[in-house]
Amino acid sequence: MAYTVTLEGETYDAASESFAWDVPDDFNAAADLVGKHDDGERVALYQVDDDGGHAEYTFDDLDERSNAVANALASRSLEREDRVAVVVPQKPANVLTHLAAWKLGAISLPLSVLFGDDALRYRLTDSEARVAVVDASQWPTVREVAPDCPALEYVFVVDGGKSVAGGANEAALEDVTVERFDEAVDWGETAFDRADTDVDTPAIIMYTSGSTGEPKGVLHTHGVWIGHCPAFQMYFERDVREGVYWTPADWAWIGALGDLVFPAWHYGRPVVGYPMGSFDPERAYEIMAEFDVTNAFVPPTAIRMLMGVDNPTERYDLSLEAICSGGEPLTREILEWADAELAGVAVNELYGQTEANLLVTNCREWFPAKPGSMGKPVPGHDVAVLDPETGERVEQGDIGEIAVHRGDDPVIFEEYWNEPEKTERVTLEDGPESDAWHLTSDLAERDEEGYLWFTSRDDDLIITSGYRVAPREVEETILAHEAVEQVGVVGVPDETRGEIIKAVVQPVSGETGSDELRDEIRNRVREKLAEYEYPREIEFVDELPTTTTGKIRRTELV
Ligand code: ATP
Ligand code: MG
Repeated sequence: MAYTVTLEGETYDAASESFAWDVPDDFNAAADLVGKHDDGERVALYQVDDDGGHAEYTFDDLDERSNAVANALASRSLEREDRVAVVVPQKPANVLTHLAAWKLGAISLPLSVLFGDDALRYRLTDSEARVAVVDASQWPTVREVAPDCPALEYVFVVDGGKSVAGGANEAALEDVTVERFDEAVDWGETAFDRADTDVDTPAIIMYTSGSTGEPKGVLHTHGVWIGHCPAFQMYFERDVREGVYWTPADWAWIGALGDLVFPAWHYGRPVVGYPMGSFDPERAYEIMAEFDVTNAFVPPTAIRMLMGVDNPTERYDLSLEAICSGGEPLTREILEWADAELAGVAVNELYGQTEANLLVTNCREWFPAKPGSMGKPVPGHDVAVLDPETGERVEQGDIGEIAVHRGDDPVIFEEYWNEPEKTERVTLEDGPESDAWHLTSDLAERDEEGYLWFTSRDDDLIITSGYRVAPREVEETILAHEAVEQVGVVGVPDETRGEIIKAVVQPVSGETGSDELRDEIRNRVREKLAEYEYPREIEFVDELPTTTTGKIRRTELV
C-alpha cells in the first residue's frame, strides 16, 4: 500500500495539531522509495558521468536493478540483519546496495569515501560487516584493512576495470572473495521475493561524526526515511512534489541520504548524482544550472565556498528555490548572502543528529526565520527542552536539554550498536511524562514564539568563575574579525576559575597570528559579549582539526 507523508494545514500550528504517523503494517523502505512509483517513466536519478554526459534511471530501473543486487547478495548467503557496507560515492551502486539490503531484511552500512584506513577498520570491525561494496577508488584502502576484519567475506568492487582482484596483497585476502560488482550481479535477474519487514525492522547503521569521541554506530529501522519527510516539506517550503533535488554531500551521511535523497524518492522526485570529490563551488553552480536543481542540501562549509563566487545569478541560469543546511549553526552572513546574492532563495537551517535527525527546522511559508535560531519543532516529533535530571520542561527562556518523545516517532534511532549502556544514558524512562524521551545532549532555549535557539552541546558548555559560557557565541564574535578564517572555542581546566576560555584561531590566508591580533580578538569579545567571556588563552594554528563532515574536533583543541 502506497503511503505518502503529508503535512496538512495552512499554518504551522494547524499542521502540528493534525499530523499523525499512520504507517502501513508491512512497510519496507525500498518498496516505499522505489517500488511504488509504477508509471515506468518517472526519473529517479540523473547520474552525471566522467565525460560530462549523464544517464537517467527511472524508479522502475532502480527497483529492478536493486532486485538484481539483492539476488546477488542472497546467493552469497547474506541473511536478515547481516551487515552490508557501502563505500561508494554518488553512483547508482551506492543506492542500489542500500535498497537491495532492505529488500533482504539486511542492514546497510554507509561509509564515507573520505575515510582512511583507521576509520574504515573501526567501522567494518565494529559492525562485523559480511559484505562490502567498494568503489575502485577506495579499494586499496579496503584491501589494506580487510585482513583485520574477520567477519568480512565478500568485496564487490565498483567500476574498477579488470585488474581489481589481483595485486601484491592478495595472499592476505584469502578469506575474502573479491569480485567486480558488475560481474557479481546478474542484471537480468530482476525478480526478487522481498523479505517481510515493518517500520521497526532494523535497516541501517550510521556512525556519528565523532566530534566528542569515538563515533557511535546508530541503528535505525525501515521507518527512518519517512521520519524525515515532514521536515523535508518544511525546509523545502512544502511544495515537494515538484522540482529536482541535489546535494554535494557524500551519500554516506544522514544529511545527504536522509535529508535529501530518500525523502525526494518518497515523493517520487528526481535526484542528481555526481561524485564531485572535493567541493568545487563553480562546478556546483554548473550542476545546479544544468539539471534545473530547485532544492539542495548544502552543508555550511560548502555554503561558505559558494559565497566566494561572485554574481552567481548572473553567471548561471539557476532554478533554485530553497537550500537547507545544518549540522552546525548557520551564521547570520549566510542568510544575508542568500537574500542578496541568490535573489532571495530561502536558506533554511535544520537541526538534528544521527540518532534523531530533523527535529527542528524553518519554513518561510509558515513563519519568518530568526537569524541564529534553528527554527521550530517539526510536526510528528514531540520536541521539548527539559531539565535532564528531573525530566521537567524548563521555563521558556531557560536553558535545558533538547529531548524528543520516543513514542512511535520513526526518526528516532533504535539503539547504539553494541553499546547498550550508552543507549541507556540518553534515554529517560521515568520522567513525569509517561513516554520515554531521547536526550540529545544538546542544550537550547525556547522563546515566546516557540523558536529554538541552540546554546551548545552539554559537555561543551564552559563554566568559568561560575559563569556559563556557550562557545558558539564567543566563536561567532571572533569569526566576525576580518583576519579570522575559522575558530574553535573550548574550556580548559584551571585551578582558580574551574575553566578558562581558550580560542584556537586559524587566521585567513596571508595573515599570521600576532600579539596585536590577540589583543584585538580579546577586546572585541569583551566589548561585544562580556568581560568574563573573553578568551584568556589564544592559540594560532594553520588549520583547525575537523571531522570528515567538516566539524571542528573540539576534543583536540584543549
Ligand atoms: P558525536 O556524536 O560522535 O560526538 P556529532 O554529534 O557531531 O558526533 P552528528 O550526529 O553528525 O555527530 O551531529 C549531530 C550534532 O550536530 C547535534 O547533536 C548538534 O550538536 C550538532 N548540530 C546539528 N544541527 C545543528 C544546528 N542547526 N545548530 C547547531 N548544532 C547543530
Ligand atoms: Mg552526537
